[in-house]
Amino acid sequence: MAAPRKALPEIDPQRCTGCGWCIAVCPPHVLSLQVQSATGFGSKRSTLHDVPGCTGCALCAVRCPFDAIEMVKIAKP
Ligand code: SF4
Ligand code: SF4
Repeated sequence: MAAPRKALPEIDPQRCTGCGWCIAVCPPHVLSLQVQSATGFGSKRSTLHDVPGCTGCALCAVRCPFDAIEMVKIAKP
């Protein structure tokens, strides 16, 4: 089994422009652009739609040109 991940990406919707770069570099394809409002209208922002599928590799955070993704350490159980 792969090494357990140490952090998860936290996406700041205020900084995210919806450019999609993080989605393009995510190896397991667990990021996608989603409309944030409950009405289903408005601009799209990057969303981690599959939390268990994220490996914590941080490629998305490195790639984001707008510094919108922060890797947040997972508390040890
Ligand atoms: S790369 Fe950054 S700004 Fe672009 S969609 Fe991803 S989180 Fe948003
Ligand atoms: S940390 Fe890696 S696996 Fe997780 S969302 Fe970012 S690019 Fe994808």
